[in-house]
Amino acid sequence: MKEDEVHMTFVKIPYPCCPKEKVVAYPTAHGCSSIKCPNCGKYAVFDYDNLTARPGKVCRGAGKRPPANEQTARTTRAALGS
Ligand SMILES: [Zn+2]
Repeated sequence: MKEDEVHMTFVKIPYPCCPKEKVVAYPTAHGCSSIKCPNCGKYAVFDYDNLTARPGKVCRGAGKRPPANEQTARTTRAALGS
């Protein structure tokens, strides 16, 4: 069991929209990802290579798999009242 990987240092990248909300990035993380802000619901693009974040746009139809797929389905079902 290699446990030292769990004890890696990490960096918290604040959301551009709500600096109080943060995303944890590990040194092994690379590339970018679009993450929805848990506070205001806006999307931010996190660059794990540069440890920066910038406001992102909602990637509608990107791969036809929206990140909030499950939540959207739930909301739709609730709106339909079923
Ligand atoms: Zn926000």
